[in-house]
Amino acid sequence: MEKIEVEAYTISPYQISYICPNCFSSYKKNGEPTKRATNIVHLHGNSEGTKENHTIIRSSHCSSNPYEVRICITDKTRRIKYKSY
Ligand SMILES: [Zn+2]
Repeated sequence: MEKIEVEAYTISPYQISYICPNCFSSYKKNGEPTKRATNIVHLHGNSEGTKENHTIIRSSHCSSNPYEVRICITDKTRRIKYKSY
C-alpha cells in the first residue's frame, strides 16, 4: 500500500481533517479532475482527543486508491471547538 504524509488542516476533540492531494471535488468522464475541481477534505476520528502536535497513521478514505496516510498535527493546524484553558 502506498504511503503519504500530509499536514492536518483542522483538529477538534473528535475529528482530524486534512486536504487530500489525491481526491478532487469533480471529475471528467475519463477520470481526470476537472479544471475547477478542488481537493477535498477527509475526516478521521481523533481517538486520542488531544490537541497537541503529533502524528497519526490511518488508512485513507480515498475511494479510488486507498493508502496509508500519516497525518501530522502541527503548529499550522487549526484547533477548533477546543475550550481554551
Ligand atoms: Zn483522498
